[in-house]
Amino acid sequence: MRVARCRGCRRLTYPAHFVCDDCGSRDFDSLEVSEGTLLTYTVLHVPPSGVVSPLRIGIVEFEGGVRALGQLAEPIEVGAKVRAEWTVVREVEGRRYEGFRFRPA
Ligand SMILES: [Zn+2]
Repeated sequence: MRVARCRGCRRLTYPAHFVCDDCGSRDFDSLEVSEGTLLTYTVLHVPPSGVVSPLRIGIVEFEGGVRALGQLAEPIEVGAKVRAEWTVVREVEGRRYEGFRFRPA
């Protein structure tokens, strides 16, 4: 997962910001973070159309405190290490929607 890193104070953000909340810098580069920790999740047994049921949605924290929301590829326990992939997470009437899917690391 690519995150933005402030060149002023090194803070990591996702999604990228135009201005750093901490130091006001507008200068960023990007950094790949791979492994994170599942903080919490919920299970939807009646998800929107085009999504696999049951739909598990979780929040993962990566290094630097960056958090992202995405689908869980399978049941995963809170606190487990996961890896993120950017992939098609929903298909409706021929349209594909991309997002994060997390798998056990
Ligand atoms: Zn900054």
